[in-house]
Amino acid sequence: MFDIHKIRSDFPILGTKIYGKPLVYADNAASTQKPQRVIDSITDLYSNHYANIHRGVHYLSQKSTALYESARETVKIFINASKVEEIVFVRGTTEGVNLVARSYLEPLLKPDDEILISEMEHHSNIIPWQLTAERTGAKLKIIPFLENGELDLSTLPDLLSPKVKLVAVTHMSNSLGTINDVGLIIERAHALGIPVLVDGAQSIAHMPIDVQELDCDFFVFSGHKIYGPTGIGALYAKEKHLLTMLPYQGGGDMILSVSFEKTEYNDIPYKFEAGTPNIEGTIGMATALNYVSDLGIESIDEYEQDLLAYATKQFSDIEGLKIIGTAPKKGSIISFILDGIHPHDVGTIMDMEGVAVRTGHHCTQPVMDHYNIPATTRVSLSFYNTVGEIDKITKAITKVKELMG
Ligand code: PLP
Repeated sequence: MFDIHKIRSDFPILGTKIYGKPLVYADNAASTQKPQRVIDSITDLYSNHYANIHRGVHYLSQKSTALYESARETVKIFINASKVEEIVFVRGTTEGVNLVARSYLEPLLKPDDEILISEMEHHSNIIPWQLTAERTGAKLKIIPFLENGELDLSTLPDLLSPKVKLVAVTHMSNSLGTINDVGLIIERAHALGIPVLVDGAQSIAHMPIDVQELDCDFFVFSGHKIYGPTGIGALYAKEKHLLTMLPYQGGGDMILSVSFEKTEYNDIPYKFEAGTPNIEGTIGMATALNYVSDLGIESIDEYEQDLLAYATKQFSDIEGLKIIGTAPKKGSIISFILDGIHPHDVGTIMDMEGVAVRTGHHCTQPVMDHYNIPATTRVSLSFYNTVGEIDKITKAITKVKELMG
């Protein structure tokens, strides 16, 4: 069902050696590697079909436009949005959140209104709301998490009130691995008429996403975390919201007509796509989504859950290693600390063994504060990782202990 050798051969970089040792790439939560199909799709665009989109009458412009718009259709299908008009191309998750903060929320906020986020958010899903709060006098409220890294949803009845104008929460934590019950949060928020933004930066590559079933108001993700290029992502927003929202940036392509007296904005989603967009990025991202669909996101999920279970068991057997984030529902991320050894030393020594992991606060400083630690070492796995690689990671950690312990 899952031909790991064939899959690995789709990713040219996985054959690389680091310091003479075969690369073990376990930094997938930061960014994923790219299959040849994605690389080829961008080369093909530049070699055969490239021109600026939307405004040209000539053949290549129309060809590029058709590819760009079919990428939007691919995103729509991948997350099961009901209309292509609900898909806005953005630079990535960060820009998607900033767009919603600026164009949707800010005009609605009054002093003392509230924005509800969680304690495990990535900085990208904290700072845009802080900026909005500073500009409007609104307040940021926080859903706390428990010691195992699970959100404490028993706090919701107290936190959700008519003062809350938006809930913004991550679907899967990039530092703890926790998969949050966003369906329940959405249901509770909607009961009070409060819209919900889901940060799908991590979840998009690891589980099926159905925005209609979730009933979220906004969903954001980045192409580079799902085997596509950097600098491209998508914002899904319910049509009713996009229709009322103001443009995020001004420029070409987002207008119907311009005069010095009055500008009429373009229809959605173009109203939110000012300037020449990342055409090659959308095409690379759509190719990546099709690649993932061909493998089957359910099969990916199942395979990665097996890897996660195996790695969790192997790591737990290492004396002095403590896993940070042990919620019952997790994606394939394991953050850990090693007794008396700084994560940066851990990462540096593991690198010498060919193992790429991330160390630091993972742009989730409040999570580090919660555990009173400066940083963790994070192993984040993808469907192209193998049980053999987990053994190599385990050996590399043991080596760190030998050298530093
Ligand atoms: N949200 C989460 C949960 C993430 O893991 C990340 C990236 O690590 C982001 C947001 C920001 O994504 P990007 O830097 O692609 O905009």
